[in-house]
Amino acid sequence: MPERPFSDNSTTAGHPDASSLPSCDLPPFQGPIRPHWQNAARAKGFEIIGRVRDRYHLHLRCGDCAGTHVTKLFVLMSARPLCPHCLAARRRATAEAAGVTFLRQDPEASLYGFYRADCGHVLRRQFEIVDRAARGATGLRCGICLIQREEAEAQRYGWQRLGPDETRPSNYRLYRHGCGHVQSIAQANMLWGQCDCAACGESWSSRPSFIYLFDIRLPADDDAPSRRYLKLGYSAHPVKRYRHQLGLPIGAEVEVLRVVPMPTGHAACGTEKAAHARLVRAHPEAVVPAAELAGRMKLRSEIYRPHLRAVIEAEIDRIARDQGPDRGDAVSADPPG
Ligand SMILES: [Zn+2]
Ligand SMILES: [Zn+2]
Ligand SMILES: [Zn+2]
Repeated sequence: MPERPFSDNSTTAGHPDASSLPSCDLPPFQGPIRPHWQNAARAKGFEIIGRVRDRYHLHLRCGDCAGTHVTKLFVLMSARPLCPHCLAARRRATAEAAGVTFLRQDPEASLYGFYRADCGHVLRRQFEIVDRAARGATGLRCGICLIQREEAEAQRYGWQRLGPDETRPSNYRLYRHGCGHVQSIAQANMLWGQCDCAACGESWSSRPSFIYLFDIRLPADDDAPSRRYLKLGYSAHPVKRYRHQLGLPIGAEVEVLRVVPMPTGHAACGTEKAAHARLVRAHPEAVVPAAELAGRMKLRSEIYRPHLRAVIEAEIDRIARDQGPDRGDAVSADPPG
């Protein structure tokens, strides 16, 4: 029988994550280590230190980390074996850069891993997504915390978040009003309290003001690479046409991270100014200098680096706690257009 790939699937070149036992508890296999195998191993950064289990398996030592693992002869000769120790080290480093802790690969799906987030919850994410998060191209959000946050946001306006609305686009949720009526509302509208109840007709009387946190992404231009900023601000109206209202360039993207309704514009203004004073005093390095923003957007001050997000969110949590949940008022309609 020729030596050829097998179907037992414990090692395949196409799914390197599923390959290779990290250590060798396998019985040795009596047989020579052919010189051209050893040459192939060295060319790929490994040393063959033995044959194990059967005539198809080799025990390799990694030239980078000196860790050993078992792979198939076929993989060595036709592809590039992956050192599981180096792979795990890379995953730990990538996870750290993405702000989470790598726990383990998903044994059911080789492209997915389990991670612990700062909140303590375990996230299951594609490795590729974590790579992107490590490069700052995306964020890793805890779905459990996100649901809890949305529940609290709905409560502020007298609604109970029930769950996703499977019949509509993914940004819609089902909510139950204080009167008992259930309806589907876009999550972004609920964030600003723009939701009227179709049953009891409680109509829109939006909060006088809002404190908000935006994640602003500016595209690269001739003078500068793409940039990412945090904007903490307040507004008397739900900020919907971000680009226009914030004077952002074409191609800018804005994500609403947080909104806290405030009882008066005066309170919003004072609270926002106090928060900025604390942030600037404690984290001057995170304040973006006006010169960097000149010509790129109208906003010049009170713009922060993305790494301050957790600190700013803690500040917003405190503001929200001070306001307290407030039910029944501020139920409003989605404005036409
Ligand atoms: Zn290694
Ligand atoms: Zn969480
Ligand atoms: Zn109602």
